[in-house]
Amino acid sequence: MSLERWAPRVTHNPSTLREGTNPGSFANAPDIGGPLAFSSPDTPGMPPPSSCSAWDFLPPGWRREGGICQAPAGFRPVTQLEHARLGSITEPMRRVAERELHLSAEQVRDELAAGRMILPCNTVHLGYGLDPMAIGRASLTKVNANMGASPVSSGTREELDKLEWAQRWGADTVMDLSTGGNLDECRDAIVRHARVPIGTVPVYSMVLGRRIEDLTEKVILETLLHQAKQGVDYFTIHAGVRRAHLPLIKQRLIGIVSRGGSLLAKWMLVHGKENPMYTHFDEICDIMREYDVSFSLGDGLRPGGLADASDAAQLGELDALGELTEMAWRKGCQVMVEGPGHVPFDQIEYNMKLQRRICHGAPFYVLGPLVTDVFPGYDHITSCIGATAAAYHGASMLCYVTPKEHLGLPKKDDVKQGCVAYKIAAHAADVALGIPGSRDWDDRLTKARAALNWEKHFEEAFDTDLARAYHDEDLDVDTDFCAMCGHDWCSVRISKEIVEFDSGKADGYQRARALSSPALNAEQQAVLERRGVLSPEEIHRLASKTRRVLAAAPGHKAACHSDLADDAAAHQLQENLIQLRRPPAAE
Ligand code: SF4
Repeated sequence: MSLERWAPRVTHNPSTLREGTNPGSFANAPDIGGPLAFSSPDTPGMPPPSSCSAWDFLPPGWRREGGICQAPAGFRPVTQLEHARLGSITEPMRRVAERELHLSAEQVRDELAAGRMILPCNTVHLGYGLDPMAIGRASLTKVNANMGASPVSSGTREELDKLEWAQRWGADTVMDLSTGGNLDECRDAIVRHARVPIGTVPVYSMVLGRRIEDLTEKVILETLLHQAKQGVDYFTIHAGVRRAHLPLIKQRLIGIVSRGGSLLAKWMLVHGKENPMYTHFDEICDIMREYDVSFSLGDGLRPGGLADASDAAQLGELDALGELTEMAWRKGCQVMVEGPGHVPFDQIEYNMKLQRRICHGAPFYVLGPLVTDVFPGYDHITSCIGATAAAYHGASMLCYVTPKEHLGLPKKDDVKQGCVAYKIAAHAADVALGIPGSRDWDDRLTKARAALNWEKHFEEAFDTDLARAYHDEDLDVDTDFCAMCGHDWCSVRISKEIVEFDSGKADGYQRARALSSPALNAEQQAVLERRGVLSPEEIHRLASKTRRVLAAAPGHKAACHSDLADDAAAHQLQENLIQLRRPPAAE
């Protein structure tokens, strides 16, 4: 049977290395400058993109002529959206183009002007050393890490440690969700130390020391102004939770799971009035514009379980978020929109494409979503599965979920686990979307793996220390097989030895000589100590060994590599050095 008619209809290759046998991505062809910058093909029945963009929601008195706008006389632009609308390329836009190799500064500006991208950079935080980044479908998928002290745990020092830790493990933005300790001091310290944009949910500070019922317009506006002056780059504002939505919550299995959403729902019910974040939205826009604080329009009615996903309350709020997006754009503010939560896998594409339609392409920032509810303790995994699908189908930023989700306040290692899970989701989606250059990293690692070049393999690994420690736990020499299959069964080694194959022969990846592996560093020792497979003495030996182990002198054959050693020597090596945990011999 000919398979030709099933040949993949791929678009372009997400690797600039242009090697390998994979012809490219199944996603739509890129359309930077349009609503489908990088997009998945629509499953039948999905909402099509909106025909509008931020260009259709200009402030009063602005006129669009050609590709740029004319503002009223005397207008002074502040926000990146305003600069972009006026055709300017700012330093932060240039920096984004430097960091996103597939985008030019002009494309960054144009995507900002269309509202399909935001560049969250409070003018105050820029002065502290923020490294500008962008969130949007034309750019790489971003990851947010949440942190923050709770009334029962943690403090400013611990939160600064978590900030460093999150940045180290790849968080593109960080949200300070503190609800306890000295909120003001903690936020100030985080903004001053952060190289990444910082987001907050200001309603948390608004209710500290008072009942939600006592929240006034004055407190709302003063709190926002204070945090804007501190340098916060984006605010979650739950203005889309409307009074009319509240009866729709009654049938839910788990009510309102957003803290901000539940607080504001209570305020509305107590006062019998509309959400104050909605009724004062114009004044909120004015404050945010003054410091270029971006909106993260909160999803206060996001589902808290699969049973409540895509229900009338959630979609009713999304509709309101579309209206608020238009209002914020008319005020010159940058906007992204927050999304669910807990969503069955089959409903994720619909949710992404509905938001794209209703919010006219404004970036979607989603929490997970978790695709099942029954794995507490593993929700970084249940949610990163949903996050990968969300990023492929339309999300621009993924809010991480840690193993402590639903169970407690994340600690340092939970932050790492969450970041790593979400870097996997974001990168997997970028490759699938065919974003140019996104697969280069994978291809480099594959070449190192094929050449059995462990040094390069570990260097390319996202978590170098973990990969190295896991390898050395069993076999602490740098040879051309590992303990999983052993010398005789190593298919990668066998492929490399077949002269007709290219496998393992890429330039710059083959090694001229075998190497002995270096001693474990402190982080790698810690990995092995936590695992508890090796005894302290064995770990000490790995951490204190010298490079003399295999006498790989330049120009001489070493005993550890079958490029250089015969099978008998390799077998001997395996016997002598492999540290497989064997069960004790039967007596
Ligand atoms: S021994 Fe097995 S797991 Fe290890 S490199 Fe070879 S094929 Fe891969």
